[in-house]
Amino acid sequence: MSRSTAAAAAIADRAKTVLKRLKRAYPDATCALDHRNAYELLVATILSAQCTDARVNMVTPALFERYPTAQRLARADQADVEALIKSTGFFRNKAKNLIGMARALVEKHGGEVPHTMDELRVLPGVGRKTANVILGNAFGLNEGVTVDTHVTRLSGLLDFTKHTDAEKIERDLMPLFPHRDWTLLSHLLIFHGRQVCIARRPKCAECILRDVCPSALES
Ligand code: SF4
Repeated sequence: MSRSTAAAAAIADRAKTVLKRLKRAYPDATCALDHRNAYELLVATILSAQCTDARVNMVTPALFERYPTAQRLARADQADVEALIKSTGFFRNKAKNLIGMARALVEKHGGEVPHTMDELRVLPGVGRKTANVILGNAFGLNEGVTVDTHVTRLSGLLDFTKHTDAEKIERDLMPLFPHRDWTLLSHLLIFHGRQVCIARRPKCAECILRDVCPSALES
């Protein structure tokens, strides 16, 4: 076996172990954004840019009450939406994107959230990451791996990728994990990143991945 083939085999083995252990540790890992349908998840995901999911969950009940459908949001006054979402940050841009997204849903998709990456990623405020969240969590379609800050950080620490660009990280992750687990993988890495492998102060001493993690700190 050549050196690079051996290294690739070691990474694939590590990926298998990591997935197995994280599944066992976080059997309830799921999307942390409160939502009842694809429209609500799309709105919440747009709001989650540069903001915590907990903060988004504080804002969305009032927003969904006032704008329960894409049709209603498409006709919204931007200042009213801004006031409702202000605490999530970047609220002017987010309000503009939310209304623009809702108008696109109404004009091109009969007010429904589309089911394909190509249709989703051209909506205002929606890129590949948001589209992956919607496809995986609202429709059960494992089109890709959602790469957020936790997934970026843990993928580097676990040496699944050398990249820092989200789409390149996603391309490195996809062949390492079963297709059916792509959506779950990102939930698992996010849970572990929030609870144990915390940015700047990872709890390596109590980490279940310690023996297989190339970045484990000495205790
Ligand atoms: S061993 Fe440390 S660096 Fe590696 S995943 Fe666990 S907490 Fe993170």
